[in-house]
Amino acid sequence: MSTLKGKTALVTGSTSGIGLAMAIGLAKQGVNIMVNGFGEKDAAIAAIKACGVEVDYHGADMSKPVEIEDLIQQTEKRFGSLDILVNNAGGSPASAVAEASPRFVDAILKLNMVGPLYMAQAAYPHMAAQKGGSIINIASVSGARPSPGTTIYGMAKAGLINMTQSLAQEWGRDAIRVNAIIAGLMTTENAEATYGDAAAQAAVGQSMPLGRMGTGDDLAGAVLWLSSEDAQWVSGARLQVDGGGERPYFLDLVKGG
Ligand code: NAD
Repeated sequence: MSTLKGKTALVTGSTSGIGLAMAIGLAKQGVNIMVNGFGEKDAAIAAIKACGVEVDYHGADMSKPVEIEDLIQQTEKRFGSLDILVNNAGGSPASAVAEASPRFVDAILKLNMVGPLYMAQAAYPHMAAQKGGSIINIASVSGARPSPGTTIYGMAKAGLINMTQSLAQEWGRDAIRVNAIIAGLMTTENAEATYGDAAAQAAVGQSMPLGRMGTGDDLAGAVLWLSSEDAQWVSGARLQVDGGGERPYFLDLVKGG
């Protein structure tokens, strides 16, 4: 794989979970990292720093355009470039649509769709000026199939996938590549709320073609490839990284299925 050493990546939501795994994956290739996200951050910063790269932290809230603009400015100021933007911060608690308040709907759309748009907008002038950049949007299978129980999240991720393809077309002449990773069912330190306890997660994994749920490291490889020159003609792609996908439930109901 071509080298990424000395590049700068901003990974939103990299204080934990998938974002942290992707930031570490990039750092292992010599990429300097701007960490973003909430909660305990010191362990994340230390783990990335241990890879021997420059690391900084800025905790901008993805639902606040002013903070987003500031995050991009601080990244450029601290590292002198912005080569890779991973729009990873996202997620949603389960909520039946019949009970979802306007405030909840607004918050989920902002975090998973509108925030990434503002991030890309703020990154654009920097990437266009340096004649190159890679924007990677972390979408979800929830945005590519029905998402009962997390309908608004699914809507937002579907919008993110569509936005990816449009930006790839608008910004191709600036040598900015925009791609989406459609992530499948993932285990993280916060997975219990979505997938149940360890036994439930193991059962979910067993239902999948590759026999397990995904990890942040599984997505990190895809981020590295999409960021690299090896993917220099890849833009507007929807790369599904999902361990082979979810087995259609009806097959279990059909005798001999
Ligand atoms: P997580 O909850 O473990 O981590 C989310 C990160 O985003 C944290 O660092 C958190 O501090 C940060 N964050 C939350 N709200 C924020 C805000 N308003 N502004 C800035 N940062 C904020 O989530 P995860 O499971 O690691 O998911 C990461 C991404 O992968 C999300 O976009 C999610 O939709 C997507 N995804 C996850 C799964 C899964 O099964 N976990 C599956 C498909 C896609």
